[in-house]
Amino acid sequence: MQQFRKIDKIQIAQINKYNVIRCLMREGPINRAAIAKRLGLSIPTVMFITETLLKSTFIRSIGKGVSSGGKPPEMLEIVPERFFYIGLDIGRTMIRAVAVNAVSRQVACVEEPTNNPAPEKKFVDRIAGIILKIAGQLKTENNRILGASIAMPGLIEKETGVVLFSPDFGWNNIPLQEWLTAKIPFPVLLENANRALALNEVFLMGGENSHTTFAVNLGYGIGAALVIGEDLYTGASGTSGEIGHITALPQGPVCHCGNRGCLEAVASGAAIAAQGKSVLESQGPGSRKASKIRELAAGDPEKVDAALVFRARELGDKEAARIVNSAAEHIGIGLSMAINVLDPDRLVLCGGLMRNGPFFLEKIKASIETHRMRQAGRAVIISTGRGGEYSTANGACRVLSNSLWRNRQLPV
Ligand SMILES: [Zn+2]
Repeated sequence: MQQFRKIDKIQIAQINKYNVIRCLMREGPINRAAIAKRLGLSIPTVMFITETLLKSTFIRSIGKGVSSGGKPPEMLEIVPERFFYIGLDIGRTMIRAVAVNAVSRQVACVEEPTNNPAPEKKFVDRIAGIILKIAGQLKTENNRILGASIAMPGLIEKETGVVLFSPDFGWNNIPLQEWLTAKIPFPVLLENANRALALNEVFLMGGENSHTTFAVNLGYGIGAALVIGEDLYTGASGTSGEIGHITALPQGPVCHCGNRGCLEAVASGAAIAAQGKSVLESQGPGSRKASKIRELAAGDPEKVDAALVFRARELGDKEAARIVNSAAEHIGIGLSMAINVLDPDRLVLCGGLMRNGPFFLEKIKASIETHRMRQAGRAVIISTGRGGEYSTANGACRVLSNSLWRNRQLPV
């Protein structure tokens, strides 16, 4: 039989306090009567909670608002610099870090090329250096920084902070959280990059409570995350979202996960670049019909990345168009499977590949339309991500903030 949990008065008071804070974060500046109405609380309860928050300098008064008949009400808001989160997006090509304040606004950012992630310990020293650099930019006490949240590709064991397997980095069982904790003066949290990105996109789109969002990261690799309301669906063993490793071509190229023909091996940024390189290499330097890929890369296969193949397509190169169209077709097939299985109401396409012009989205949509089951996913709205290059780093901050909220560990 299901156990019912008893909630005592202290817990109710705590829940009410957190709801008031959430209301101030989302709708502030706001007056006490409006908070009471919004949350269905009594005015004395809201008065009591806001007095406590004012005393702890978590919130502040910004003066009188507009009267709706009686005395003009006092407007309250969260003090933005009361605390901060640091978020890192450790990608295969770039490391991006941000600091976000108490009202979820990005207040600092740093980026640098990832370069060689080996040896691991030396690389982790670099990561710690980036965290300390961005913390220094905040010019605040360390106890106001609630933590550093790291988003990276691969399978992460969140409870222990271990990177179980990251094919992009060639890492197995790296205790990243432990190594970083020894080097920086605030808590460290780890999450998969696709999940961090998904949380940020859901936040930017609003309406967190009423949607099921499937967010896909189409970049150097391909990954995804399912967000139900505001909660990440992680799966029984924490590995959900690996859409990049569904089989697209059973006899296709070997994927770095060890399988053959994964979606990531045929349609990711890395796969598009690899196909572009082989086009270049198949044509000799003096080839009369040299492709635009060879021209743009000045004959150097190392210069071929996905963006270059997209540029060659724009210039009318047929081989580049074939590569890009094939990627869109396969991505569309993968997403139509996800739609058939999940029936989400929002499908958000993010990542570097989506920054190559609206035609790519249209190609993917056309492929989805061709391959999804006729009556499946009738409600799904497909859009591109809104968060830009720092979306995953901001998402890492949201992972941390959600965790502190859930465990009621905010410093209030
Ligand atoms: Zn794979």
